[in-house]
Amino acid sequence: MQRKVLLISRSEKVTAIIKNAVEERGHRLAVAMRALDGLDIAREHKPDLIIADLNLSDMHGRELATTLRAEDSFQGVPIVTILPPDQIHERDLCIAAGFTGFLDEPLMPEVLPLQVDFFLSGGVHVADDEERVEQARTEYVQNFLKGLEARIRELERRNDELQRIDDMKDTFIQLTAHELRTPLTLVTGYSRLIEDYPPLRRLMENDLGIAPLLQGLSDSISRMQSVIEDLLTISRIMTRKIELNMSQVSLATIIKRVLANYQEALRERHLQVFFNAAEFPENMRADEGLLYMMILNLMSNAIKYTPDGGSITFRCEVKQNEVQFSIRDTGIGIDPEYHERIFDRMTISHDINAHTTSKTTFRGGGLGLGLAICRGIVEAHGGRIWVESAGYDVNRLPGSEFFVLLPLVAVPSTKPMNSIRRLPSRPQS
Ligand code: ADP
Repeated sequence: MQRKVLLISRSEKVTAIIKNAVEERGHRLAVAMRALDGLDIAREHKPDLIIADLNLSDMHGRELATTLRAEDSFQGVPIVTILPPDQIHERDLCIAAGFTGFLDEPLMPEVLPLQVDFFLSGGVHVADDEERVEQARTEYVQNFLKGLEARIRELERRNDELQRIDDMKDTFIQLTAHELRTPLTLVTGYSRLIEDYPPLRRLMENDLGIAPLLQGLSDSISRMQSVIEDLLTISRIMTRKIELNMSQVSLATIIKRVLANYQEALRERHLQVFFNAAEFPENMRADEGLLYMMILNLMSNAIKYTPDGGSITFRCEVKQNEVQFSIRDTGIGIDPEYHERIFDRMTISHDINAHTTSKTTFRGGGLGLGLAICRGIVEAHGGRIWVESAGYDVNRLPGSEFFVLLPLVAVPSTKPMNSIRRLPSRPQS
């Protein structure tokens, strides 16, 4: 009967010798070079015999054996390693860790097929001195714990390093956005001056081709301004707590303002909106400007990711001290794999090649900041935001529904935005 053998080793020589032996006996060999890959393969393929080197790059072979032994499905599986016969103490440590046998090092190709059969038929190498193995077990556990501590420290160090690099990136984005904003303000001013320049106005009256050129210039500048504003907003969200400017607000009124803002786009794109103001609470305490920005972003996405002729529906439920509202579209939908990740900065779930830059054209993507801003705003109010969608399909259009749950009386969150630590505040614009 053909059996499955898993070898976890980074040595090509060992792999070649064992492969020959296993195949000579008519069995199948899977090979992993790293312990973690070996664990994955073992869990997926349930081998009948596992041969693991001790010297692996990501985990010691003994720790690998202990990990496997801890799982019910490997209780009866032979796990063997390769060691010279005279290394008695090492062997005791291996038995303590969960190994059931040894292949003598150097490997002997002539006897290896028989050894493989021996282990496959349930053969084990029993410890010749139980007391010695018991001592080895204590030593192994102590070393294991020391190793664990060292690894936690190393992980912490690397985490701090990543955090520092992440902070540098935030600072870079923030400074770049600031630097770009200043000249862009000047460009805006100059473009207005040009538009109002009397000789040019006279020229425009005679040459109808000039006006669209100026309009194009002005639209592009507005778009650049909005990208830079988004970058600055997200920097603010990431680098310090947003200060909420709380007042009594009406969600319905905010949504009406958002709809008014997109009126033209909705008409051009033949998108129908279903919104019943009476469902929405008239009075809640929140930051009006930030709620407007959040709903504006969600609405912009609903428009962008829904093809012409689709619909967008607002729904709302007031529950005790909370309000839960949603924006559902009949658009391309979002793969479940992305449901969490799209709320991180700069994640886009669609094909980047199909990316255009617009707030309202179909699939006119942006920088992937909108939802991160939304999450920052919702969390600052002590609320929650999530998406439900059956998947991404540009033909069948499963649609997406974004839900927002907010306390009616927002309790400003003391947590840093996006659940990320608070950084020292930097000069803001
Ligand atoms: P972007 O500026 O790219 O739209 P967002 O942060 O607003 O950035 O959205 C992140 C990604 O989430 C988008 O690029 C898109 O892939 C996906 N997405 C957001 N809203 C929708 C939606 N209503 N329908 C389908 N996909 C969406």
